[in-house]
Amino acid sequence: MILRRQTRKIHVGQVAVGGGSPISVQSMTNTDTRDVEETVAQIERLQDAGCEIIRVAVLDTDAAAAITEIREKICIPLIADIHFDHRLAVAAMEHGAQGIRINPGNLGGPEKLARVVDAAKAHNVPIRVGVNSGSIEKDLLKEYGYPSEENPMALIESALRNVRLLEEYGFHEIKISIKSSDTLTTISGYQQLSKLTDYPLHIGVTEAGGLIAGTVKSSVALGILLHQGIGDTFRISLTRDPVEEIRVGFELLRSLKIRERGPELISCPTCGRTQIDLFSIAEEVERFVQTMEKPIKVAVMGCVVNGPGEAKEADIGLAGGNGVGIIFKKGVLFKKVKEEELLQTFLNELKLIEQEQ
Ligand code: SF4
Repeated sequence: MILRRQTRKIHVGQVAVGGGSPISVQSMTNTDTRDVEETVAQIERLQDAGCEIIRVAVLDTDAAAAITEIREKICIPLIADIHFDHRLAVAAMEHGAQGIRINPGNLGGPEKLARVVDAAKAHNVPIRVGVNSGSIEKDLLKEYGYPSEENPMALIESALRNVRLLEEYGFHEIKISIKSSDTLTTISGYQQLSKLTDYPLHIGVTEAGGLIAGTVKSSVALGILLHQGIGDTFRISLTRDPVEEIRVGFELLRSLKIRERGPELISCPTCGRTQIDLFSIAEEVERFVQTMEKPIKVAVMGCVVNGPGEAKEADIGLAGGNGVGIIFKKGVLFKKVKEEELLQTFLNELKLIEQEQ
């Protein structure tokens, strides 16, 4: 049982973050935000995969203006990611951004920051103070050194300094992220930060890498933090189709028994006992279960040695044999079919389960 750290609650559009709210899974588009059609198409795919908050990069006024049309076509809250130009932050909020991600210290001074805060108050928009190892102020780097596992204070102080800037304007609808590309720095940084603030935390490893390296790094860092009750929302950053980020995110939450979305698929790695083409069967089943919403357990096993045991434990499972497959439903032998018919029969049963009330 994971005891979550107590944090304040803020709202990004209709999604509550912190204060015991469900841990939300985010992603970021990699389209040109000015291209409304392409951006909306990507967000729709992300929504279907379960994405709960989407961030888009706002590089110019056209991108800020595009938010109005994008918002009309999507269902999840949109956060505008802005660097340096306070006018873009204000414009993004005027065009309907439900959150902004900025580094208050790099907006060009107190007056410009004040205008951003005024707009955030007027539009009821929370601000994510997002600092990265690469964006730390020089004086903090001089004082604490480059952030490391042993001493992540430069990151933490940079974030808290920026938070104080917002607080000076009476603004408290804040969440914080301190991102590093190093797994251990990420863990120790958030562990220490969580003792110093009760603002909700957006956790993540930045520039984590491709599908395998990025998934491993993010899962290790975020898995440890979430297990310690730290983190209110997160993004798995991958150099991949952002839909993969959402899939990894929900698998991470499922593995910690924090949240479930859709079926859990158990499949064996295959071995010398496998006598059917399990890889293709498992691949097709995986593709199909990603379209399902019911949180059932599905097992795809290669042989009759260990297969039936797991297959029986699942809501529905199959175990391969020599040119045949056995399908179990709720622990009971349901059907024995020829290998050629196994996949289709199994998919048909999955469709029926999904349709059942
Ligand atoms: S279930 Fe059977 S085929 Fe799959 S890894 Fe285990 S022993 Fe091998």
